[in-house]
Amino acid sequence: MEETFIDSEIFFSSESLAQGDFWIANPPLNKVATSTNNFDGISETFYSLKNRKMDRVYLEMAKVWATNSYCERMKVGSLIVKDKSIISDGYNGSPTGFPNICEDASHVTLPHVLHAEANAITKLAKSTQSSDGATLYVTVSPCFECSKLIIQSGIKRLVFKELYRKLESLKFLFDAGIEIVRFNK
Ligand SMILES: [Zn+2]
Repeated sequence: MEETFIDSEIFFSSESLAQGDFWIANPPLNKVATSTNNFDGISETFYSLKNRKMDRVYLEMAKVWATNSYCERMKVGSLIVKDKSIISDGYNGSPTGFPNICEDASHVTLPHVLHAEANAITKLAKSTQSSDGATLYVTVSPCFECSKLIIQSGIKRLVFKELYRKLESLKFLFDAGIEIVRFNK
């Protein structure tokens, strides 16, 4: 498989392409490289083998972390990694001190539920660690609200697995200069 570069404007406005299983979007180059099978064919200068290996492992860990969630509709896990260390984690659920229930009787998500990445970022807000320059791993692509938190918290890379509904938030993150990797293994 040859390395394929696609202009980001075209990529993020095309739903069929953005649903591809393996791609990496580089804001400084304004390019997206896609691959059909596990990033085979994408050059190491665009996406180093070491990063691929670590991204896969941390994303697997985020998947395991998602199983902590009490939510029934969807369980999402997130990790924040900086300087080769996990500095925060989160899964979707209630704020501290509230019952671990995510849905009402009609299976609609309750308004108090925090998303996994919001939990991971706010956990850092009461720690001594900083997310500036960190990588966020999340099992499902971030919503627009969480994307704002990601940008403001100084996170520089996003690695995710599944696509969540709309793609506008991914374009928004890319425009903010965040490298995005879809690793749908
Ligand atoms: Zn969210």
